[in-house]
Amino acid sequence: MDTAAIYPGSFDPVTNGHLDIIRRSREVFPRLIVAVLCNSRKKAMFSVAARAAILERLLADDDHIEVISFDGLLVKVAQEREASVVIRGLRAATDFEYEFQMAMMNRHLADQIKTMFMVPHEDYTYLSSSLIKEIYELGGTVTGMVPVEVEEQLREHFTGQKE
Ligand code: ADP
Repeated sequence: MDTAAIYPGSFDPVTNGHLDIIRRSREVFPRLIVAVLCNSRKKAMFSVAARAAILERLLADDDHIEVISFDGLLVKVAQEREASVVIRGLRAATDFEYEFQMAMMNRHLADQIKTMFMVPHEDYTYLSSSLIKEIYELGGTVTGMVPVEVEEQLREHFTGQKE
């Protein structure tokens, strides 16, 4: 099977939960596109360029992963890149309704593109990018929940200091 998959998300910032989904996806698909969404409606903490750069650095050892940024319709990007599977992560039942709606809409828009859901390791099921930002801002530790590169990025964002 030489099917390529695309894993879209905000990755604002990338967490170990996202990386777990990426790793699992690569065990199934020979080529994976990690697509960082520039969503003008959702205010991001980090720029698309910064989010993509950190993903690129973290995934640099795998030649079969490509990091891109995109705007607009996901199914269009998937078609352009010849990816026929969209990967999304499911942490809990609360994710389901939104993800189901998106999957149905994407199928309506492009019937040949399939959505596949991956479940992360249980250690990451409670992790979300927004919770990470909130915990960090309140002075809590996020070690073990995000890669060290992201911890540095958060420190820089909140204090303007590089270590
Ligand atoms: P979006 O704004 O598209 O939801 P996110 O970066 O928040 O972007 O999430 C991208 C995808 O990764 C979504 O399918 C989300 O459910 C999934 N995801 C987010 N955090 C985790 C996690 N800790 N474990 C597994 N999947 C996750």
